[in-house]
Amino acid sequence: MLVFRFYFICFAGLIATLAFATGNGSPRQSSEKHEPPSGTKDSITFSSVHVDEPYIALTFDDGPSAKLTPKLLDLLATHHIKATFFVIGENVAEHPEIVARAAREGHEIGNHSWSHPYFARMSDDNVRSQLRRTDDAIRSAIGIRPTLLRPPYGSITAREKRWIHDEFGYRIILWDVDPYDWKRPGPAVVRNRILKETLRGSIILSHDIHPGTIEAMPSTLDALEAKGFKFVTVSELLRMATPQPSHTPPSSESISTSATPSPAPTQQPSPSG
Ligand SMILES: [Zn+2]
Repeated sequence: MLVFRFYFICFAGLIATLAFATGNGSPRQSSEKHEPPSGTKDSITFSSVHVDEPYIALTFDDGPSAKLTPKLLDLLATHHIKATFFVIGENVAEHPEIVARAAREGHEIGNHSWSHPYFARMSDDNVRSQLRRTDDAIRSAIGIRPTLLRPPYGSITAREKRWIHDEFGYRIILWDVDPYDWKRPGPAVVRNRILKETLRGSIILSHDIHPGTIEAMPSTLDALEAKGFKFVTVSELLRMATPQPSHTPPSSESISTSATPSPAPTQQPSPSG
């Protein structure tokens, strides 16, 4: 009987020890489990994404254009390429059918404001109105709300990013490849700049309102494909994010998942975007 009680006490002690250890361990394990990959913690702004495979995201801003966007959609369809369109609300209201076609064909639609102002110079109420009207126009055209915002010119303050993310749920999408196609340098220059700068995980900025950009696309897409790049929408690219090998802890103000320096358009608004 004494032996039995001895074993019972030992067994109970073991259970208690295990429970204690587990109890101590679980919060830490739990927090580790829920921690996002390094470099993406608390990050709502992206100019590129760290990925293991050669995926990239093509983005086209300022449309839709009645003349050029359908041409681009035809080209993307022949290549089976999905892109992301950051549309202007005014243009969506004018040509909702083009936006609807893009969404139907698998492209992603993001908010690029109603009339392309500098957010960093505006009151919260005016920014809110720009976003709300465009959000409504997109939802009316394609049936769902956008989840991405590209601020015109990349102009946005850190404070604006936070409240816009909290209020609209948007992630802020900048870029790391900029061919300056808005300066209309000619199709060959647009293509060469894109080919030179694009890396795996790149987010490529261009505009489907400039004829030279559309002219540049057939050879640009051929060349990017020849280099082995694969095209996904921005949201797909974000879902592919993997931890960075960098040992530098991300700062709380980190605006990008990429270790590559970006053009930092938030600091100095660029005429691009
Ligand atoms: Zn723009």
